[in-house]
Amino acid sequence: MAPTPRESRPPVEPYKVKVVESIRLPSIEEREAALRRSGYNLFQLRSDEVYIDLLTDSGTSAMSDRQWAGLMVGDESYAGSRNFTHFEETVRGITGFPHVIPAHQGRAAENLLFSLLARPGTTIPNNMHFDTTKAHIERNGAKAVNLAIDEAYDLASLHPFKGNVDVPRLRRLLTEATPGEVPVVMVTLTNNTGGGQPVSLANLTEVREVCRAAGVPLYFDMCRWAENAFFIREREPAFASTSIREIGRTMFDLAEGATMSAKKDGLVNIGGFVATRDGALAARLKEQLILFEGFPTYGGLARRDLEAASIGLQEACELDYLTHRVGQVRYLAALLEAEGIPFVHPPGGHGIYLDVRRFLPNLPAVDLPGQALVVELYREGAVRTVEVGAVMFGDDASDGHAPLELVRLAIPRRVYSSAHLAYVADVVRRVWERRSSITGVRMVEAPERLRHFLARFAPLAAASGPVAGAPAS
Ligand SMILES: *Cc1c(COP(=O)(O)O)cnc(C)c1O
Repeated sequence: MAPTPRESRPPVEPYKVKVVESIRLPSIEEREAALRRSGYNLFQLRSDEVYIDLLTDSGTSAMSDRQWAGLMVGDESYAGSRNFTHFEETVRGITGFPHVIPAHQGRAAENLLFSLLARPGTTIPNNMHFDTTKAHIERNGAKAVNLAIDEAYDLASLHPFKGNVDVPRLRRLLTEATPGEVPVVMVTLTNNTGGGQPVSLANLTEVREVCRAAGVPLYFDMCRWAENAFFIREREPAFASTSIREIGRTMFDLAEGATMSAKKDGLVNIGGFVATRDGALAARLKEQLILFEGFPTYGGLARRDLEAASIGLQEACELDYLTHRVGQVRYLAALLEAEGIPFVHPPGGHGIYLDVRRFLPNLPAVDLPGQALVVELYREGAVRTVEVGAVMFGDDASDGHAPLELVRLAIPRRVYSSAHLAYVADVVRRVWERRSSITGVRMVEAPERLRHFLARFAPLAAASGPVAGAPAS
């Protein structure tokens, strides 16, 4: 084993446990049956077929006692609920954006914003679009373009801010665009699709200058803004003793608005919003909101959920919380690194992204190696992960790069212990040790959009017979 890095000591929790939920490791027979039934798509598993669920960090956080108490002071008035006032004050306090439009989750916020801004013939750049962001932009006929720096695609590069936007390419895009062709520039904090990698304040400042010169508004996808701020504090020396809230404010001062899924750095199980400085846009967003989500003081949510989100958004700014949160990711990274298992370096804010091309170098892209690896991690130890590669992003090459081929182990917030993470590392190691015998999968049923949620697969070895429709289950 390689020398043990310092992070291989488990991070100490800044909380203690008050409520527990039982989990159980299903037998190998149960796992095999579950794989067949689900069409080898882990999105189709039942949660009790999973032992450690690293599918997503979205909406899977454990709420604090204060958040649960917040549910009890829900004021379920249709209009003017005091919980909305608290939510609005909280979002304004963090971002400085005066207009706050609640939505039931991030993609609902994206739907509101892009149904107004994205039209056929327009182009919307981002460091890297998240899957639902891209889908909403394309649904409205616009083009979604990824402009992350080249280091984002070099999985071994130790660049401290691999989420950064390639500013010269952005400048060129904006200079060559006709007026109105680029209605908005987005930056995703942190860059989820690219490994949960942060964006520096220096880069955001440059992006903002380029946008200002072109007269195009800058919006953030601020799902993981607090984790992004944590990295800025750690890696940009000027901010080493600045609070997370102050760093956040410095970030948000550069933008015109943002969308957020509060299921990430809002530490809640449901919720989101669009926030903006643009009063005219806010008025139109509210009209859309009433059509699709509900009245502007609840936005498709129970008011008690807005209260829990208000408290969660504030808890996510606490340095102790963030130190432990990112510490868990680094702990898992150190355990995998000690085994020589390839993943995206440096580890990002919310999970580990296995480097599939180096994990399964013998499997060609057509054999969907990411999906094959996800299936094997489940088969080995009932650990559920997600493919971020050819299945999720298809033959997308909107940035001139082949799609990344990753498997994400997303760590839910405040949910699993270090012992759970050590178990996960052990499962990954066991799959790593038998990697040369792993075969691919093929897609046998594929919906047109967001196909990774609904597609069905068959193991390649078993797919020699007729493959019309689903595999035998
Ligand atoms: C989760 C996520 C979204 C969408 O949010 P939902 O709440 O899942 O609808 C958008 N952007 C990014 C970067 C995300 O991680």
